[in-house]
Amino acid sequence: MADAGHPSQTAWWQRLRPWWQPAVDFLFPPACLVCGASPSDLESVFCDACADQLQNAPGAHCTRCGAAVGPNLVTLSGCGHCHGEHFAFRRVIALGVYDGALQAAIGHGQQVHGGPLMRGLTDLLMADHLTEFLAEEFDAVVPIPQDWQRRFFGIHSAAETVAERLAERLQRPMRASILRKPRPTPSQTGAAPSVRRVQQRGAFEVPTGMILTGARILLADDVLTTGATAEAATRALKAAGAADVVVAVIARGLGASSVRAARVE
Ligand SMILES: [Zn+2]
Ligand SMILES: [Zn+2]
Repeated sequence: MADAGHPSQTAWWQRLRPWWQPAVDFLFPPACLVCGASPSDLESVFCDACADQLQNAPGAHCTRCGAAVGPNLVTLSGCGHCHGEHFAFRRVIALGVYDGALQAAIGHGQQVHGGPLMRGLTDLLMADHLTEFLAEEFDAVVPIPQDWQRRFFGIHSAAETVAERLAERLQRPMRASILRKPRPTPSQTGAAPSVRRVQQRGAFEVPTGMILTGARILLADDVLTTGATAEAATRALKAAGAADVVVAVIARGLGASSVRAARVE
């Protein structure tokens, strides 16, 4: 793969963290980013009660689309949410269902100062699916890119924050330059799945000359709903030679009726 690199070196001030962190914690006690209570663990940015609410889909997940499913409904061909869908990506790993506390937290995480919250959610995703992440060999972590207009105005990219944190934790390179979004796409809120797929078709491209032959890519985003965005991004990566794409998201959006269905499964 042409663009693979090495994980960035740890900064000197991070290496000295064991010396200065206790003083910082004493002067500024850590507070849960959702409710302000004290986390039980100094490494965590959420208290136990909020972490439980954010991990809103414990148990089995569909290995194809990441939806929460009952233990007897997980099959290699998918679940009720993705049955009959043809995805170019191999699988989706998600923290929970896009609903309730997790939906609210992602909304805050997408705001200008939402970076720490989005990193905390990514840590929960890693903690819940550590075995699955470690079983994979990724060459690079790639975020779903924003429209150039959003980049121009410096709007915080939640997908990029998720990708950065995954790359840091997995010690793999983060490569935002692999995928571009040359033109804006209409808002997908409320659009039917078939409309979303048409809108997203050809929305992404790999820069000319970038060869990804055989690359195994971890594609990161904050939310996956129909999968149309991840599908379009995966098709662009594979057209440039990528061999395998796994998608990691904080939440799997299932739509109101699907969310209810997932809960009673
Ligand atoms: Zn809390
Ligand atoms: Zn599924």
